[in-house]
Amino acid sequence: MVKTMDNKSVYLDNNATTALAQEVLEAMLPYLREQFYNPSSSYPEAKGPRDAIEAARESVARLLGAGAKSEILFTSGATEANNAALWGVLRANPDRRHIVTTQVEHPAVLEVTKELERNGYRVTRLGVDRDGTLDKVELLQAIEKDTAIVSIMHGNNETGVIFPIAELSRIVKAVDSKVVFHTDATQTVGKIPLNLTKGLPDVDILTLSAHKLHGPKGTGAMFVRRGVRWRPWLIGGHQERSRRAGTENVAGIVGLGVAARLAMHNFVQETRLKLLRDKLEAAILEAIPNVFVNGQNAERLPNTTSFAFEYVEGESILLALSDAGICASSGSACTSGSLDPSHVLKAMHIPFSAAHGSLRISTSRYTTEAEVQRLIDVLPGIISSLRRISPYWDNETNAPRADVDVFVQEKYR
Ligand code: PMP
Repeated sequence: MVKTMDNKSVYLDNNATTALAQEVLEAMLPYLREQFYNPSSSYPEAKGPRDAIEAARESVARLLGAGAKSEILFTSGATEANNAALWGVLRANPDRRHIVTTQVEHPAVLEVTKELERNGYRVTRLGVDRDGTLDKVELLQAIEKDTAIVSIMHGNNETGVIFPIAELSRIVKAVDSKVVFHTDATQTVGKIPLNLTKGLPDVDILTLSAHKLHGPKGTGAMFVRRGVRWRPWLIGGHQERSRRAGTENVAGIVGLGVAARLAMHNFVQETRLKLLRDKLEAAILEAIPNVFVNGQNAERLPNTTSFAFEYVEGESILLALSDAGICASSGSACTSGSLDPSHVLKAMHIPFSAAHGSLRISTSRYTTEAEVQRLIDVLPGIISSLRRISPYWDNETNAPRADVDVFVQEKYR
């Protein structure tokens, strides 16, 4: 693998996970060493870990602009928090059997709603347009008499498209104030400022994960607004005021608290990341034919670009990038052995020939301009060599074959 001058690979996959901040690691270490006590123990030694959890709760509440720190619960990550949000609301509202969500949610919501269907609940999944945006009228019409929860993500992990959660939650509450509004904000927390008191007053539950904001993996949090009809999902001991049982992951929680504080100081980076993203997109669109940016016209996260290269395979792009020392991600879900494009790109009606050639680039505050430049330098060569061996590509004209539409249709009939 070719590496950069300092022999490190170029990491452009920050929506998958982020590097642990040095300050976070240092703050966590004492809680893995001498401060190992169970926070629930009664002797004075346990006060250190207990206080540290409360300090972290305060930091997360501040990052989210929550009204009170008691509205923050710590979990093992966003997957648990999303499960707890959905199941917890349905358990607390047994007469309501309907859920509204979108077709582009992360599996941590999408798969839960499939499981809910298997358990007899009804689910409405809102579609999106080619830019990845939702139709507000459709949302309004989707709410039924027995809708318990509307679960709509904040920022999309694949495309970076941001849904207008303030407006969407206002619409839901205007139709029925008893419907609980949940947003999976895993990809937005720490990247753009949020305020649950001033900006998002109609959001009842918000979920997040520490490892997306330079915190540790296996730690997350959920905001549950005071008074919301919700029941705990993990039952057992009395931790988290009986709202989330299980001995606390003290070091992880401390790490999340520090990550939250650091994120607040780093919102100034938003403009730099946006400029870096715009530079990358402009350079690639200029240098390579038959490529577009998924969701380009929508409001998007400052750190995310989803490219769709027509007539190349996303997985081949990733392999070639990896050989060049660059870590990125594709949008295709080929884990199940199928080469189906991702459910997000399918929902956006990205043409089959392009959805397969998707490439997600996601930066962080540690990403340098030189790293993005490295991608700009190598990507055009990679795409053109892959196209040279593509049956869809005409090397004479350096364009798709004239009969490419017929060819693609025949091949995939
Ligand atoms: N929701 C979204 C939008 C995500 O991007 C992720 C992580 N990829 C999750 C939920 C799951 O988070 P965790 O890894 O903490 O379970």
